Amino acid sequence: MSQTTPKKLVVIGNGMAPGRVLDHLFEKAPGAYQVTIFNAEPRVNYDRIMLSPVLSGEKAYEDIIIHDDAWYETHGVTLHKGKKILEIDRADRKVVADDGTVAEYDKLLIATGSSPFVIPVPGKDLAGVVTYRDLDDVDAMLAAAKSGGHAVVIGGGLLGLEAAYGLKRQGMDVTVLHLMPTLMERQLDPSAGYLLEKALADRDIRIITRANTKEITGRDGKVAGVVLEDGTKLPADIVVMAVGIRPSAQLADDAGLEVGRGILVDDHLRTSDPDILAVGECVEHRGQCYGLVAPLYDMAKVIAANLAGDEAQEYTGSVTATKLKVTGIDLYSAGDFAEADDREEIVLRDAAGGVYKRLVLKDNKIIGAVLYGDTADGAWFFDMLKKGTDISDLRDTLIFGQAYAGGSPLDPTAAVAALPDDAEICGCNGVCKGTIVQAITEKGLTGVDGVRAHTKASGSCGTCTGLVEQLLKVTLGDAFQPDAVQPMCGCTDLGHDDVRRLIVAQELKSIPAVVQELNWKTSCGCAKCRPALNYYLLATWPGEYVDDKQSRFINERVHANIQKDGTYSVVPRMWGGITTPDELRAIADVADKFKIPTVKVTGGQRIDLLGVKKEDLPAVWADLNAAGMVSGHAYGKSLRTVKTCVGTDWCRFGTQDSTGLGIKLERFMWGSWTPHKVKLGVSGCPRNCAEATCKDIGVVCVDSGYEIHFAGAAGMHVKGTELLCTVATEAEVLEYIGALTQLYREQGRYLERIYKWADRVGLDVAREQVVENADRRKELNARFVYSQKFMQNDPWAERAQGKDAEEFTSFRLAHLGKVA
Ligand SMILES: Cc1cc2nc3c(=O)[nH]c(=O)nc-3n(C[C@H](O)[C@H](O)[C@H](O)COP(=O)(O)OP(=O)(O)OC[C@H]3O[C@@H](n4cnc5c(N)ncnc54)[C@H](O)[C@@H]3O)c2cc1C
Ligand code: SF4
Ligand code: SF4
Repeated sequence: MSQTTPKKLVVIGNGMAPGRVLDHLFEKAPGAYQVTIFNAEPRVNYDRIMLSPVLSGEKAYEDIIIHDDAWYETHGVTLHKGKKILEIDRADRKVVADDGTVAEYDKLLIATGSSPFVIPVPGKDLAGVVTYRDLDDVDAMLAAAKSGGHAVVIGGGLLGLEAAYGLKRQGMDVTVLHLMPTLMERQLDPSAGYLLEKALADRDIRIITRANTKEITGRDGKVAGVVLEDGTKLPADIVVMAVGIRPSAQLADDAGLEVGRGILVDDHLRTSDPDILAVGECVEHRGQCYGLVAPLYDMAKVIAANLAGDEAQEYTGSVTATKLKVTGIDLYSAGDFAEADDREEIVLRDAAGGVYKRLVLKDNKIIGAVLYGDTADGAWFFDMLKKGTDISDLRDTLIFGQAYAGGSPLDPTAAVAALPDDAEICGCNGVCKGTIVQAITEKGLTGVDGVRAHTKASGSCGTCTGLVEQLLKVTLGDAFQPDAVQPMCGCTDLGHDDVRRLIVAQELKSIPAVVQELNWKTSCGCAKCRPALNYYLLATWPGEYVDDKQSRFINERVHANIQKDGTYSVVPRMWGGITTPDELRAIADVADKFKIPTVKVTGGQRIDLLGVKKEDLPAVWADLNAAGMVSGHAYGKSLRTVKTCVGTDWCRFGTQDSTGLGIKLERFMWGSWTPHKVKLGVSGCPRNCAEATCKDIGVVCVDSGYEIHFAGAAGMHVKGTELLCTVATEAEVLEYIGALTQLYREQGRYLERIYKWADRVGLDVAREQVVENADRRKELNARFVYSQKFMQNDPWAERAQGKDAEEFTSFRLAHLGKVA
């Protein structure tokens, strides 16, 4: 079999467009190219459109990474971070970076994006004047916001408004200056602009339209204020320029490629040099330059296909739609809605509901759509706009949306069902209905998370999540589990993941803070959300958040399991299932002294004292404590037991010291609170006497080391584990399991077992983060180890010393008692 040498593909720029090209290329023609990327930014590929949620604190940088370091490694891509290409040498087919690095190419892909435009006013170079394009800009804004003060944003377009909202969320006093009378005038008509302005004013953002900036004033080289043409003076600690972008085409121009406003390309995205392609915002195609991702992704598909040898695919241009990513403002705009004689319009206003919809028609076709307040029909209108559908038959009810098209209201899913396969559902990622439905059926997806993982739909700004859900409903019927968007409980519309994210982003450190800042509908939460919030706060702020015992259920409050007759059962910890005559004597003494009727060995190899009277519990704990025993947390959403076999100590087949390792693991992990219970098992050989392969986490010792398993269950559902990896030493077992547990602690939803979490996020997530990415593993394990510093206190001892004597009070009563 002959093997062809891979061709050299060099990419300049590591933004969203080339990232997508490579995704397609590696799928279509793995190994065909040896890829080298140069990126002026010192980082991996991330979702630039999510910078606004990072600025507003709703996401962290880690959440918006598209390809992490492991991805480049997996695909054998050489990524030069922080190296800017200064020259393309077409004669020698090579590029040269600012640090002297040279790379030769067979094919070159230019993807330099665009540069923010800076208005040439005096003071534009002062420290504190920033643009809004990359993570460094966001960091600069966040640093400025730390000390509060005034922010002036020049530009009331999409980016300017997102920056304004983000800075406001970070606590700054924000003014937006916009030259035109209407905000986002290129996307909105004056009515929608007015509603938007009002909504921003409600968020305490000051808007000045018709504002012509004359000068930026400074003090000691740093920005101090902004002066307008009409003499208005505004104080400013930071000025954000968001007035437009220009394709970055200089490098191509210098190399002698044909350039207009952007780098000129044909329908194959080839520049005037056929071995040099260009993609993204730096490109001018058929007279158009684009500033949104959907068209760039269309281009990316074509380039990848061409590079993979399918020359038939061509790019013929895109129509774009815009959404604003400001939480709570629903705004959708597509196409052209300028006034002209040959156009008609249909308008719907609902003043009380804050809804405004306008369709612009020409020759019975939709050419523009603006939706404010209710954007559910955006995809439907956009689809008709792109296809030039004749709407004559629908005209009377068109504005009411797809559900009413034809006169009678339909089930909303019927509307989605009626969309054609090529209707675009996710504008950010350019994913159409057919792709999503195909992924749902072929990959057996049951929730939005799965669709996100496999198609990227709803993975960016997330406004199409509702549509994706409806598609799941249409495709799966009753089998659809609307997990991703299920609110935590009736107290909030937010799902678990959003709440967790906001706890981190807004640094919320107590249940009252969460309830207040995230607009809970009840005064103090309920039995469903309070334990979850308590867990999320504990897991997020180790050492800072003080456990709210009253937000725990009875078993956790009393450190014992309530049984059907109202008595309790108490399980002391026996490390790795090993005990001593002294411990057994103490257990027997306690059983005698408190007339405990039943002493039973549990499924996890511990001794259960069943039938303890409620009033005896503190004394039982005290006696067990006195004999050196601590709580086995047999009741907890926490590490329960590590079951072991006898291993090399006693068994003829044992390959490793499974009992010793079980003890080490239990001592390492006990006390850690987790989203649900966690049980471990360590077997000394594949005969698996400790049943490690149906545990949340299991270790099977083998001749070469240790197989680490996870995501098993033997409760209501029985499920064998999945293999995480095999490691050589006990120290590695601890590190990998520490990291895995921490990942689960950080991502798992309250009451979600490890196997359910792994099912939801995908087994590969754990493998990528814990096995393939050593840095990430070490970080996760370090966070686990750090949090354990605060966790390994025996609750019995604390209680025996008088702490939290209110353990039998239910949390609702406790709360009411506190406010009374
Ligand atoms: C804050 C913000 C919010 C946005 N919101 C949305 C939105 O909601 N919806 C939407 O559709 N779009 C949005 N966009 C636009 C979208 O992000 C861009 O369309 C898209 O990122 C462009 O992709 P690209 O690959 O062409 O360029 P970019 O992603 O800009 O990447 C270009 C990269 O090339 C690097 N580079 C440049 N010159 C060189 C050189 N000489 N050598 C090496 N590297 C170089 C740059 O450092 C940069 O990393 C937003 C943009 C921003 C900034
Ligand atoms: S798992 Fe293997 S080592 Fe452990 S007791 Fe069973 S046979 Fe022995
Ligand atoms: S299996 Fe069921 S009945 Fe048995 S102890 Fe567990 S919960 Fe109780």
